[in-house]
Amino acid sequence: MSSRTPLIAGNWKMHKTGSQAVEAANQLRILVEATRAVEVMIAPTYTALYQVAQTLKGSNIALGAQDLYWEKQGAFTGEISSEMLADAGCSHVIIGHSERRQFFGETDETVNRKIRAALADNLIPVFCIGESETQREAGETFSVLDKQVRDGLKDLGFGDLTGLVVAYEPVWAIGTGKTATREQAQETHRFIRSLLETLFGKPFAGVVRILYGGSVKPDNVRALMEMPDVDGALVGGASLDPETFSKLVFFND
Ligand code: PEP
Repeated sequence: MSSRTPLIAGNWKMHKTGSQAVEAANQLRILVEATRAVEVMIAPTYTALYQVAQTLKGSNIALGAQDLYWEKQGAFTGEISSEMLADAGCSHVIIGHSERRQFFGETDETVNRKIRAALADNLIPVFCIGESETQREAGETFSVLDKQVRDGLKDLGFGDLTGLVVAYEPVWAIGTGKTATREQAQETHRFIRSLLETLFGKPFAGVVRILYGGSVKPDNVRALMEMPDVDGALVGGASLDPETFSKLVFFND
């Protein structure tokens, strides 16, 4: 296990109305209040953020959004700024999730703009990267990740990146029930950390948390978390039920 404080993050995607999200957040708050050694974050849909922020006040659960737009304000129908997210109570924001890349035209360049906007408003970006099944089978995993990291963090320096979290999410493992083996996760996380060391230096590479995402469940979380470069998990399906998600938070018990 790594010496970095683990982060277990739940991405609720387009699930739960405001009242359902508040109910789940309330249950989770009670279930995980005993944890100190693990950081917890949940990312409900936009319309639930403010209500969930009220529910989480004084708890040890951080609130995240699932995306943002890089402009501060203006004629951008349907978009939301980092300042608006911070105002709603968010401390984190997921950026570059593979579903955004796959269905909504997200590119490494837009990811880079979004990361800069988040950092400018003191939001912690959870920067998602990952290869598709075809890319893995073609032996392109490392070159794909290399490009995603270099372009996503382009023109940013060590000093800008405080708190940044990276989430390695192989696209073939998201929502499919297929998890990367812990050896595959470790090998890939090691590669990402070495690349971050090359780009931003050893001190940054030593503290940056790299989460694994892709069908993480109570029965596989511990094995993954035992690997030295796996610092937590970004969880979709298994984060929706508070009982199940709390089992991930207490992976070490
Ligand atoms: C995700 O969407 O970030 C994810 C990892 O989903 P799941 O846990 O359902 O595979």
